[in-house]
Amino acid sequence: MNVADYKGVLVYIEQRNKEIQKVSLELLGKGREIADKLGEKLSAVIIGHGVQNLAEELIYHGAEKVIVVEHEILENFVTEPYTKALTEVIKKEKPEVVLVGATSIGRDIGPRVSARIHTGLTADCTSLDIDEETRQLLMTRPAFGGNIMATIICPDHRPQMSTVRPGVMLKLDRDTSRTGDVVVFDAGLTPSDLNVEVLEIVKEDKKKANIEDANVLISGGRGVGSKENMSHLYDLAEVLNGEVSGSRAVIDNGWLDKDRQVGQTGRTVRPDLYIACGISGAIQHVAGMEESELIIAINKNPDAAIFEVADLGIVGDVAKIVPLVAEEIRNS
Ligand code: FAD
Repeated sequence: MNVADYKGVLVYIEQRNKEIQKVSLELLGKGREIADKLGEKLSAVIIGHGVQNLAEELIYHGAEKVIVVEHEILENFVTEPYTKALTEVIKKEKPEVVLVGATSIGRDIGPRVSARIHTGLTADCTSLDIDEETRQLLMTRPAFGGNIMATIICPDHRPQMSTVRPGVMLKLDRDTSRTGDVVVFDAGLTPSDLNVEVLEIVKEDKKKANIEDANVLISGGRGVGSKENMSHLYDLAEVLNGEVSGSRAVIDNGWLDKDRQVGQTGRTVRPDLYIACGISGAIQHVAGMEESELIIAINKNPDAAIFEVADLGIVGDVAKIVPLVAEEIRNS
């Protein structure tokens, strides 16, 4: 393999029901930065059926080239044809860097594609940078049970591939003056590539909490004390127009549903305001919220690790402080 033959940055654009997923726009933002540092092009690849009209939106978010793979067997996400399509695009384009969202779809096809093109993949990254001199992608993710943050490189193979957690990168502002090319790519798909038959698609009944999109998160930890006490957090969330999330201790205790867990094995969030209530600040929790704009921590232990990442700290009993704050804001 000649590493120098590989050029540019390619972002896999995840669409569900023909809607571009937010993580893909976030990766275009990061991809743009990496491409600029390398002096290369940023491309996006979108795979599906009836998705070509989404290409413009990707250009508005920073892509200079959009590669569209269209086929009727791509109507619903199915592992095999999507893997084949992305593999063929990478073989043809030879990008230096490939970024994929660490969603259930990205985690499914990312490793399969990397195996087929004989390169490495760093999964579940929480930060990315590029060494402009060596052109190596510095891919950072929690390792050893979340006890350290490891920065991983892929020195001898290309592309350098990474799946990246939703919510950690910033998307660019939509700019309709950006221009780019749209290219339709024939991945050589045939109906026989669809190796499963989709009998029925059942939509989940329960409305999932979407804590990744909330601007304000009131997050509870074991220090909240009980499931009943969580109501104080919901009160505060209501006055601040936010959502309630929690640490793993709270989820394990059954005080909140799993889709509200913040951290290494939960969601990564980046709200404007994150209020940590009775959360100790374990590294596995902090990994999921440290990029928040403003972090306020309430904890009765003045030495709690959460105060190290907080912009503002309140030492005290969460059961007293949270209702007072909610009351104060309500009356203001
Ligand atoms: P504790 O650590 O028990 O902290 C409770 C805090 O509340 C303490 O600081 C205490 O001083 C304070 N407190 C107590 N009473 C009050 C009061 N009345 N008023 C104010 N403060 C009070 N954790 C996550 O959160 N997310 C993850 O995704 C995650 N993934 C993990 C993955 C792995 C592989 C491992 C090993 C662990 C993971 N954890 C995760 C668990 C993590 O290590 C911690 O155990 C967990 O975050 C602790 O939750 P906590 O801060 O709510 O509880």
